[in-house]
Amino acid sequence: MTRIANDPADFVSQALAGFVAAHGDVVRAVDGGVVRAVPAARGSVALVVGGGSGHYPAFAGVVGAGMAAGAVCGNIFTSPSAGQAYRVAKAAHRGGGVLFSFGNYAGDVLHFGEAEARLRDEGIDARTVLCTDDIASAPLDEIDRRRGIAGDFVVFKIAGAAAERGDSIDEVERLARLANHRTRTLGVAFGGCTFPGAGEPLFTVPDGMMSIGLGIHGEPGIRDVPRTDSATLAATLVGALLADVPEQRGARVVVIVNGLGTVKYEELFVLYGDVAALLEAAGVTVVQPEVGELVTSLDMAGASVTLFWLDDELEPLWAAPAYTPAYRKGSVEVAAATDAGDEVFEAGEAEQLPEASEWSKTAATLALGYLDAARATLHEHEAELGRIDAIAGDGDHGVGMRTGIDAAGEAADPDAGLRAMLAAAGDAWSERAGGTSGALWGSILVAVGRALDREGADPCTAVADAARAALDAVTSRGGARVGDKTMVDALDPFVRTLDQRLAAGDALPDALDAAARAATDAAAATSALRPALGRARPLAEKSLGHPDAGATSLALIATAISETTRKEAR
Ligand code: ADP
Ligand code: MG
Repeated sequence: MTRIANDPADFVSQALAGFVAAHGDVVRAVDGGVVRAVPAARGSVALVVGGGSGHYPAFAGVVGAGMAAGAVCGNIFTSPSAGQAYRVAKAAHRGGGVLFSFGNYAGDVLHFGEAEARLRDEGIDARTVLCTDDIASAPLDEIDRRRGIAGDFVVFKIAGAAAERGDSIDEVERLARLANHRTRTLGVAFGGCTFPGAGEPLFTVPDGMMSIGLGIHGEPGIRDVPRTDSATLAATLVGALLADVPEQRGARVVVIVNGLGTVKYEELFVLYGDVAALLEAAGVTVVQPEVGELVTSLDMAGASVTLFWLDDELEPLWAAPAYTPAYRKGSVEVAAATDAGDEVFEAGEAEQLPEASEWSKTAATLALGYLDAARATLHEHEAELGRIDAIAGDGDHGVGMRTGIDAAGEAADPDAGLRAMLAAAGDAWSERAGGTSGALWGSILVAVGRALDREGADPCTAVADAARAALDAVTSRGGARVGDKTMVDALDPFVRTLDQRLAAGDALPDALDAAARAATDAAAATSALRPALGRARPLAEKSLGHPDAGATSLALIATAISETTRKEAR
């Protein structure tokens, strides 16, 4: 439990403010997280890490020389928004590109992916390396589906050291991927963690038992076994880790024994001693181990063991010095934050957007009419969308879509021009609505604004491009394919029908009408499908015979767009 707090709702922001106050020589607060107080060399790659809060030292604690340039800080165990990730990256960027790195969780992938797209759109070379070290979360042949736990730290250390050395973004990305590929973690939980202000832990482990394969968001382990002594526990963990090694693993390994929150350092040292002995017996040389709290899960009682298989390239990067609030290694010459003068803030300045043209403002006013039409239909169908989502999901789709469209409408200012208006609207939708669909609709608005804002383009081509851009945004961010029972099942036929009808010479209102009908039919037809992704997947059977909520709302919006176009054309 949490013993020290004011209002639990402000816990995260107050903890972050106190953290920055305590470490002002190393980090400074920016909108969305923290960046280095003393920026790295101009032209270097900015490693930007992040995720939910509740994992300290991950993620803010590893910002500093030799490690991350910035950290994006979400709410407890909740992905930060795309806007947060974008703003922190802009503040951290030093001209050499941005490498995002974070644990592989659907929400983080969505939001950081959107931020990456926006940075690229502005000409900043942004990339992503996901951390996938948890061997309990998927088999080795599906390593890309594994989630990231304590091994995040390894990837951050390697990428951070390469960036500090002045490596190009291609190199930093390659080395980060290589490090991730050679990192494996397995953990154990003895007791669950409790949110600040909550009375009950997220999960409990039965007395006398321990849970192997813990997550770092209060996910219980995958199998409960009777508690053992440290030597037996070490044998269980090391045995599994030695059975799951990269090809050409080599004979030198970094060991991390990580505490999840309430396991004492002395206990971790006992475990480390047993782990090291087993590795030695297996003929493996342990290099520069770490024992302590590197990636935690609030007050969870648990520990994990990470093996990072070194090679000649990676070992010097692991050994390189670092100076961060939570992690210091070797000796780094640290410039005082004040010495950097204007340089500190120059890096964080927002790019000045060009003044919107009259054409763009007029187009934005037109687009506002479409947002209004979408708002009307989403308000009208809120209860129905909630009911559909409740069958196999969590019932929040109606509220989520209504909250999102309202936030988008409030944030939309036509004077900003079409593209900036829809970007702000998309940000607001994603940030306020939350949830998978909120993030995806945020991406849709941003992508559509980008595609439509082309003065002088043929309207039919621009609309078809915008629809295609929306589909690309959803599939690249969310990874869903046709047939997975998501909004893609309605969006894909919308796009294809629109393309076909325009190619056949239909007027825009007619083509949009046909496309909206195709989306509506396809949304209804999702009743026959089993969900392959998202929250509904575990309840796939219950979902049979009912349409997908996100496909249904997409078809409603498509219909509203078609009707608005028909009215405009009159
Ligand atoms: P959450 O699932 O976070 O509660 P919502 O209930 O608002 O979010 O939205 C659920 C809808 O989101 C689903 O019905 C589905 O259409 C859509 N969805 C979920 N995951 C994906 C994905 N990976 N790609 C595209 N659409 C998705
Ligand atoms: Mg839902």
